[in-house]
Amino acid sequence: MADSPLFGRVALIGIGLIGSSLARAMRQWKLAGHIAGHAKSERTRAKAVELGLVDSIHAEPAAAVAGADLTVVCTPLGAYAAIGAAIGPHLKPGSTLTDVGSVKQAVIRDLGPHVPEQVHFIPGHPVAGTEHSGPESGFAELFQGRWCILTPPAGTDAAAVEKLAELWRRCGSMMEIMEAGHHDQVLAITSHLPHLIAYCIVATVTGVEEATQKEVIKFSASGFRDFTRIAASDPVMWRDVFLNNREAVLEMLGRFSEDLAALQRNIRWGEGDKLEDLFTRTRSIRRGIIEAKQA
Ligand code: NAP
Repeated sequence: MADSPLFGRVALIGIGLIGSSLARAMRQWKLAGHIAGHAKSERTRAKAVELGLVDSIHAEPAAAVAGADLTVVCTPLGAYAAIGAAIGPHLKPGSTLTDVGSVKQAVIRDLGPHVPEQVHFIPGHPVAGTEHSGPESGFAELFQGRWCILTPPAGTDAAAVEKLAELWRRCGSMMEIMEAGHHDQVLAITSHLPHLIAYCIVATVTGVEEATQKEVIKFSASGFRDFTRIAASDPVMWRDVFLNNREAVLEMLGRFSEDLAALQRNIRWGEGDKLEDLFTRTRSIRRGIIEAKQA
């Protein structure tokens, strides 16, 4: 039927920025017949009901996934192994289990062993977000014009992958299928390293003496401000990203440290031509991002 929702019952495990945005998008574009929710705290569960994000709310994750055609894990990565153990035996045969975590190999490691054979396991990552957290911070348009990457293990049912991709497309996403290890390398460069640098710069600046600190706030629009937005991102989520993408992040951090040392040398030796050359190259990257409508 043309008007029937794409999925019957959808279970959301975690109803924060991403989970609540997905709930709102599924409501707006009528993609789910019933949204069942679970979150860790009573406060978030009550908020999800108050905001009309879910049709049913469950204190236990197993009760939320019972009978679900699609289960989406939307919690910080550190919670995945325990959630996998709790929901695994209750997943419906023929249903799909996916997630939205920012790292993908660790998801296969932590959820994979708990997935029954008849369940389609398709890890995913909507590359969209803000520095805000919690069910109030979500919005239906979050995924519009943003990439969503799926990392199905080899041999995953193609029709199940296509149906999940269709859900994200109807939420406004552009789709990409990728191998999990490759995803983690790409995101280490494009997302994880920039967040680490922002956290570090803001920490460095807050370490300066108090008199200077007041001026840091006053004149923050000169550059510092833009880093503070990224460094205001959720501490638990980002702790888990770095702990779960350790190797790829350390590899990128090694390269970054070398490049930083080279810049330090350019400044010390007054090598203005080298600085100007590098700044010219980086400027063209920004133009490319604007042209790709990802600014
Ligand atoms: P969030 O706003 O902090 O929400 C996290 C949700 O998970 C909350 O509902 C929380 O419930 C729940 N939760 C935490 N621990 C749990 C547990 N042990 N059992 C059940 N529920 C639990 O986080 P988010 O920004 O939506 O991020 C969620 C996931 O999306 C992360 O894996 C992250 O890597 C990924 N992601 C985030 C972004 C981004 O920009 N934020 C972008 C793409 C992907 P309570 O409120 O009750 O604690």
